[in-house]
Amino acid sequence: MAVAAAGELRVVSPATLEVVGAVPAIGPEAVQELVAEALLAQERFAPTPPAERSALLVRLADLVLDRADEIADAIVAETAKPRVEAFATELFPALDALTWLARNAPKLLAPERVRYPQLHLRHKRAQVVHEPLGVVGAITPWNFPFAIPFTQAAFAVAAGNAVVLKPSELAPLSGALVEELFAAAGAPSSLVRVAQGGAEVGAALVRAHGLGKVLFTGSGDVGRLVAAAAGERLVPITLELGGKDAMIVLDDADLARAVGGALWASFFNCGQVCSGVERIYVEGSLYEPFVEELAARARELELGPLISEEQRSRVDGLVADALERGAHAPAGGRPVDGVGWFYEPTVLVDVPPDACIEHGETFGPVVTVARVADEAAAVRAANGGTFGLGASVWTRSADRAERVGRKLRAGSVWHNDHAYSYASAQAAWGGQGASGFGRTHSRLGLLDLTSPKFVDRDPGRVPVPWWFPYDDDATLAFRGLAGVLYGSRRLETAWRERRALLAMARRYLR
Ligand code: NAD
Repeated sequence: MAVAAAGELRVVSPATLEVVGAVPAIGPEAVQELVAEALLAQERFAPTPPAERSALLVRLADLVLDRADEIADAIVAETAKPRVEAFATELFPALDALTWLARNAPKLLAPERVRYPQLHLRHKRAQVVHEPLGVVGAITPWNFPFAIPFTQAAFAVAAGNAVVLKPSELAPLSGALVEELFAAAGAPSSLVRVAQGGAEVGAALVRAHGLGKVLFTGSGDVGRLVAAAAGERLVPITLELGGKDAMIVLDDADLARAVGGALWASFFNCGQVCSGVERIYVEGSLYEPFVEELAARARELELGPLISEEQRSRVDGLVADALERGAHAPAGGRPVDGVGWFYEPTVLVDVPPDACIEHGETFGPVVTVARVADEAAAVRAANGGTFGLGASVWTRSADRAERVGRKLRAGSVWHNDHAYSYASAQAAWGGQGASGFGRTHSRLGLLDLTSPKFVDRDPGRVPVPWWFPYDDDATLAFRGLAGVLYGSRRLETAWRERRALLAMARRYLR
């Protein structure tokens, strides 16, 4: 976490509450200049051949590996997450993106030939080229302070864009490294810039002239504001917002695996994960052993802290509300005494539907577990609410996983696993409903960072039958031609309209 001081963001460890670093911050008035500089850099960078862009990404991957410990130090300093998570859930997605993009971006961004089987267009040569958008403004949260901004910058640069990144003011150290690493790997000066500051700096970025796209990752409330501001200027936007992922455990699931998966997906990063499991629906008689095992293992877990006092008291308020309304906590349920914003890994059962925790993102180390009668009830429960980021189905049956998975309203559906695909660059990432729209990662995410341009080549020798002059013959001929080209009774049409078609052919061949 960090606190604002004049001209800088001071970073405070949420575990020890000591100052562990600082970065210079800018005011909103300085953002426009960063965007203008990035735009100049992008104009020079855009013609770079794909192989050269790939070489930059490969150099970056080597650099990230060489400096992995230093990057992990920054992540751990400002979030106090377990060091293993800094590697597994921050460095891995970044490295995977670089490697996948270096191999695949050139062919995914290559011009696509558009073929014309239509008789009257057959002489044309057309293609769609994927042009960069210019400067991509990336506004990012604190929960994965390296993986999210770095991966977004890598995709944007691979597509030929420049990036101005606004990291979360609660975790600015990792964000600062993004600019530094790109520069050290030989990216053109100003191609990737970081605008450190609070909400007002993010707002200024969205309003800046020359911005080609906004990639916003964060809460729904801020996402709505950012989308409205981008909409006013008709700047395209991708929204990666919150989630309340459901995990469905069917009665034939492997209990040990389901409990292990639930434990990790609910509590890694102290539950501060957009696609963290917040609701578990267990079918029938598996409910009791599942809750018993999950609670026993949760009680033994040691987690990192929440990011701030504010987050911890918000999460504690949700738990207290649920308990007051009749829920029970077989594990956890309160803050950990002592220094730092630690909270007990918490399992809640018997949560009534009117409890506040049922209606919004918890974003903390708390998971609710409920029994469901069958598959249909599990799907109904999982699809309740407004979010649609991720969901998982736990069963030994591929058929059941397929059947249930198809009915779930989510951007990603996993089988016997959860959320892992964020770290695989070829898997599309994004949500539905209140979890946002647009995709990052994958071919879809890469193409979303480009503007498709249709480009036609015509040697200019073939006459164009639909140009002036218009006359009765032309009207009849087009009527006939429509039947010949697109109807199922082509011969019949050709015979009926033969006079007009011949007139058109004569004109066409003249
Ligand atoms: P947040 O919305 O508070 O802040 C996100 C970013 O927006 C920060 O950099 C912040 O400074 C900036 N910001 C704040 N006000 C702004 C404004 N008016 N204009 C422009 N920028 C502004 O979110 P957070 O607390 O940092 O992150 C947690 C949220 O992010 C959770 O809801 C989580 O689910 C979500 N998240 C989603 C994904 C995903 O992939 N869908 C990934 C990670 C986090």
